[in-house]
Amino acid sequence: MSDTTFGHIIEGQEVPSVDGATFDVWNPWTQEVFAQAAEGGPQDAARAVASSRRAFDEGPWPRMGRVERAAAIHRLADLMEERTEDLARLDTTNMAKPIAQARHDVGRSVWNFRFFADHQRDHCGAVYPMDSGHHTYSEYGPAGVVAAISPWNFPLMMASWKIAPAIAWGNTCIIKPSEDTPASVTMLGRLALEAGLPPGVLNVLNGHGAPAGSSLTADDRVDRVTFTGSSATGRVVMASAATHLAPVSLELGGKGANIVFDDADLDNAVHWTVEAIFRNSGQICLAGSRLYVASGIYDEFMDRFVAAAEALTIGDPFDPQTRFSSLASKKHFDKVSSYVDGVGLDGGKVLTGGVDEEGRWLVRPTIVTDLPLTAPAYCEEIFGPVCVVNRFESEDEVVGLANDTRYGLNAMLFTENLSRAHRVSSRLRAGTVWVNCFFIRDLRTPFGGVGDSGVGREGGDFSREFFTEPKAVVMQI
Ligand code: NAD
Repeated sequence: MSDTTFGHIIEGQEVPSVDGATFDVWNPWTQEVFAQAAEGGPQDAARAVASSRRAFDEGPWPRMGRVERAAAIHRLADLMEERTEDLARLDTTNMAKPIAQARHDVGRSVWNFRFFADHQRDHCGAVYPMDSGHHTYSEYGPAGVVAAISPWNFPLMMASWKIAPAIAWGNTCIIKPSEDTPASVTMLGRLALEAGLPPGVLNVLNGHGAPAGSSLTADDRVDRVTFTGSSATGRVVMASAATHLAPVSLELGGKGANIVFDDADLDNAVHWTVEAIFRNSGQICLAGSRLYVASGIYDEFMDRFVAAAEALTIGDPFDPQTRFSSLASKKHFDKVSSYVDGVGLDGGKVLTGGVDEEGRWLVRPTIVTDLPLTAPAYCEEIFGPVCVVNRFESEDEVVGLANDTRYGLNAMLFTENLSRAHRVSSRLRAGTVWVNCFFIRDLRTPFGGVGDSGVGREGGDFSREFFTEPKAVVMQI
């Protein structure tokens, strides 16, 4: 076990790839390779699936009492809590996530495990006495083997969001983390063994999307595929799972609208608008990347927003004061930079920010105006710290603008008018609407997106529906 070598975790052991292949794991802040990870191929994927299949078909996990299973998951959560600093440091090293935010993510990951451990105990069925005198009840049995595929922007948190409900409901799970960020998820797999989860209940398969991820989704011994990543990959994953009719849950990209009405509390609106687009250095599916500001407050709001963006402490992600750092990889830096470079060509104006000129893989907090509504930076998910701003005159106009996208993951709105808050929330085409805030989650509520932002919902009972095979039992008594 080391922080410079990340193997697969299969059948209770950390192992190299069958052919010994590895890939470089980068620290994007220092621009150095700091570790090697096992490069999973089809044989490694097949071994991982076989192990999880066996653990499901023959092992104790799906047959265990709910209280005992919850206790095992809480043990894992305890270990994660004890090792918060190690887990946080791995995400910070591996993707330049500011350390304070990485610690926050560990806390939320721990809570994901604790929440679903308890949820499966308390929401395990319902009884319906029928007028006919029959007695009927529903039962939620585990679905089987779950393939979970996660992205690099919240390496630990996104993985835990998938693994926790999967194993809590008695399934076995193979997690394939992003090839950009294998570190913290591999450590999570090690902790699961330390917590006493039986072999095969949580396997970790490292490697690239193809062949590691694609081998999992195509394997007909897999019963559920839960995926978080880009909309383009989501289409490929869904097609692959369809060949063996495995249900999919897809949490995909976004281009969130953030609406500031003229009656907003401006201090609060500026605070959350900065969080919504610049937290995690802008690499958030839920980012408020399209900002609409009411004409009446436009000048004042923009002065304050630009000042707040410029005041963010940028630098070494290990410095506890740092709020913003480099992007997660050279590839991603190139992608975000190309959008920023295109702004001027499309007639837009960069009010502040732009590509770092010191050779770091960093794009400074960037605020853009005057872009046509057809410009790529306005329409497409940049997944970086680039906020495109427009002004609006009326509620109808801004609802139309906000909904004019193929995405529909989330939206934010800022207003002190209660009726408007309810009315506009209801009209926005999005899986989550935050009113006067951002990024606050109650795990009982549905999470997911409309249109290109996803298929299905997870969270609370929604996760139960996906990760189980619900059954109706009807009795004549
Ligand atoms: P990505 O689609 O490139 O990769 C995601 C995962 O899929 C990685 O583990 C990758 O290895 C794997 N993968 C790639 N090709 C595959 C294939 N053919 N078969 C199986 N697996 C494959 O996305 P990314 O760049 O890692 O993440 C960024 C994207 O994720 C953004 O679009 C972002 O909006 C989205 N995201 C969405 C949410 C959400 O909750 N909706 C959360 C975080 C990130």
